[in-house]
Amino acid sequence: MIGVDLLEHQGKHLLEGHGIRVPRGRVVTDPDAALEAATSLGGRVVCKAQVPAGKRGKAGAVRLVDSPGEAATFVTELLGREVAGHPVEAVLVEEAIPFAQELYLAVLDDPSTQSPTVLFSTRGGMDIEEVSGSSPDSLHRVSVDIRAGLADGQAHGLVGRAGVTGRAADELARAVERLYETYVDVDASLVEVNPLVLTESGEVVALDAKVTIDPGSLPRQKSVLEVLPGGRPAPLGTDLEVRGRELGLQYIELDGDVGVLANGAGLTMTSLDAIAHFGGRAANFLEIGGEAYTQATPALELVLSNPRVRSLLVNFCGAFARTDIMAEGVVTAIEELRPTLPISFTIHGTGEEEAIRLVRERLGIEPHDVMDDAVREAVEAAQATSHRGEELAR
Ligand code: GDP
Ligand code: MN
Repeated sequence: MIGVDLLEHQGKHLLEGHGIRVPRGRVVTDPDAALEAATSLGGRVVCKAQVPAGKRGKAGAVRLVDSPGEAATFVTELLGREVAGHPVEAVLVEEAIPFAQELYLAVLDDPSTQSPTVLFSTRGGMDIEEVSGSSPDSLHRVSVDIRAGLADGQAHGLVGRAGVTGRAADELARAVERLYETYVDVDASLVEVNPLVLTESGEVVALDAKVTIDPGSLPRQKSVLEVLPGGRPAPLGTDLEVRGRELGLQYIELDGDVGVLANGAGLTMTSLDAIAHFGGRAANFLEIGGEAYTQATPALELVLSNPRVRSLLVNFCGAFARTDIMAEGVVTAIEELRPTLPISFTIHGTGEEEAIRLVRERLGIEPHDVMDDAVREAVEAAQATSHRGEELAR
């Protein structure tokens, strides 16, 4: 996963908290609420499907309407639709803001410079890919030193190079600074406003917001995510994946029935491949690295919480990392949690003799010398229990 995409209204909430003006609006989930919201906003409103995807305008999921009745009709239509593969569960009803000019402003992680980059264009409103393709000269950028932040004059320089002058330039430079602060504060990998508009009276307003939060920072951004209107963003993952992130564990739920505990991402992938090779299906990907041995109990609990899990494969391989320390963690976890499902071990590398002894003596389980044997056993055990389950169900 590259990041967690917030819904537009959630992104706008963060922008507003950082002093960027956004239209007044309400999130609605039924036509009556849309009617009410549109009435209180003056009748002429923009209705926008809240799905974690761009190009909603082109998909017909954004519409300017002239009356509360039209708003209710369009909201009814949207709520029965999918947009970009996402069912529309909420619609943002906003005051329509008449604007003089549409602009583009974004702050994003730039892998090529390993720094945040601010992008600005006076050609807002359309796809930024189109702008960079058809008129690359109109897309201006500035790279920011992540430690020092935006330097004096960098924001002004950026809007100045795009040809903006006067009071609008001051207002836009301030918006650049505020957007950058938002990006830093919420550990975003992307904060994009397209369009950012200038009104006739020279005010800057964000009409759209796309915010992507770096998934690695989710544990410390929990409070940000929780105060977002509308609760957690939709694509955070399954309940177990959310719990994994809260524990600081990289857990991905899969649809198989063999639970996997292995050290390191590489060995975990190998285990998943081996399970597939022997005709089985893994129930999870879970990366437990060095520091995670101390987290063996929550990690095991997470793996076992998946209701599809019918057997468990534990695969440890140590070079610098010591398998006896890993084994101590997982054996203790198994003693605490007392799972009843079949468990297959295979352990190789530094500290393996002690590790194998621990498993044998404390759990009464004999680890396999050959990884394939452990994998095959785990796959067969999962199949046997699921067959037994089917027979019992009959
Ligand atoms: P996207 O297509 O998913 O990026 O959705 P946007 O939020 O950018 O909306 C698409 C287009 O609708 C924008 O480019 C604007 O031109 C227009 N639009 C969005 N909000 C407003 C608004 O409040 N007032 C007006 N007049 N137009 C809007
Ligand atoms: Mn947009």
